[in-house]
Amino acid sequence: TLVLGIESSCDETAAALVMGDRRILAQAIASQEEEHAPYGGVVPEIAARAHAERLTPLIDKVLREADVPLADCDAIAATAGPGLIGGVMVGLVTAKALAMASAKPLYAVNHLEGHALSPRLADASLRYPYALLLVSGGHCQILRVEGVGKYQRLATTIDDALGEAFDKSAKIMGLGYPGGPAVEKLALEGNPKAVPLPRPLKGSKEPHFSFAGLKSAVLRAHETGEFSRADLAASFQQAALDCILDRTRKALETMDEVSALVVAGGVAANQTVRGGLETLAGEFGLPFAAPPLPLCTDNAAMIAWAGVERLEAGFDADPLDLKARPRWPLDPDAEPARGAGV
Ligand code: ATP
Ligand code: MG
Ligand code: FE
Repeated sequence: TLVLGIESSCDETAAALVMGDRRILAQAIASQEEEHAPYGGVVPEIAARAHAERLTPLIDKVLREADVPLADCDAIAATAGPGLIGGVMVGLVTAKALAMASAKPLYAVNHLEGHALSPRLADASLRYPYALLLVSGGHCQILRVEGVGKYQRLATTIDDALGEAFDKSAKIMGLGYPGGPAVEKLALEGNPKAVPLPRPLKGSKEPHFSFAGLKSAVLRAHETGEFSRADLAASFQQAALDCILDRTRKALETMDEVSALVVAGGVAANQTVRGGLETLAGEFGLPFAAPPLPLCTDNAAMIAWAGVERLEAGFDADPLDLKARPRWPLDPDAEPARGAGV
């Protein structure tokens, strides 16, 4: 199996060629960090235009690098949501055109499914079902991943996502965008116990998340002028880690049997988060898995891989009039957390 994957849901334009045996033949990512940095966050209109300019040359580059003609691909997979709709439409319409021109099947991939299955691209031994903490810029969820397209959501955030909390805290501290990596780096020089910060929802019965109060507490602590930025970064990261460990422990206590504890999404690149979850997995006697760092943040290899899994599991291809979806929950049956939209 060989699948061309396309990703354009946020501020990364990406293309990749992935084989059924998990080999990534070629991949390319064009990040728009420079374009959005002056605004302190992603500007949707700028993102959509940048995807439109870059995507086609990027796909061409990947095909050339792998020395594979489009005709040799078995399918085209593209993110069809959730995400910034202008960018998603650029990727999806490009994939439709390629699928039509080459008479190959189109697979419309849920971006969150890309993140959810990414650990299996890196690790052939990871079996369904597994417990997944999905922590990215727009989502913070605990899922039981039971198979391709089979997700049971046990928890979500009632306000901000974890990556969003890193980004907003970084902005408060003047660390620029995107904030996650900057907070992690600065935290190495700080004392995680220096700043008293809340652990929202810690100990609560349902395993849901909340980070808005933590971010506000970072803002108040910053405004006192009493703390160094390094101490703030380290204390914020520790508080966030305490929250996700408490919430994930809660979810694991009630979850049906799983083969492993897995983390995915942009925040899975954080070493403190990975280390804490690995220890937690040990408490439950579970193996721990996390994708290599380049597969944590947005990329097209994970989208191609989701396409490989859909193709090999015998899923029907998607129609060429399929619509891009700004919102698209992985588990449509999941109860929303109190106050949360999705
Ligand atoms: P979603 O996948 O929910 O649609 P997204 O695609 O924008 O959102 P990702 O690319 O998966 O999100 O992840 C980006 C997020 O990960 C950002 O919020 C970023 O700050 C965070 N992040 C990246 N690296 C790190 C790190 N080392 N430590 C903490 N956070 C990180
Ligand atoms: Mg990004
Ligand atoms: Fe993402």
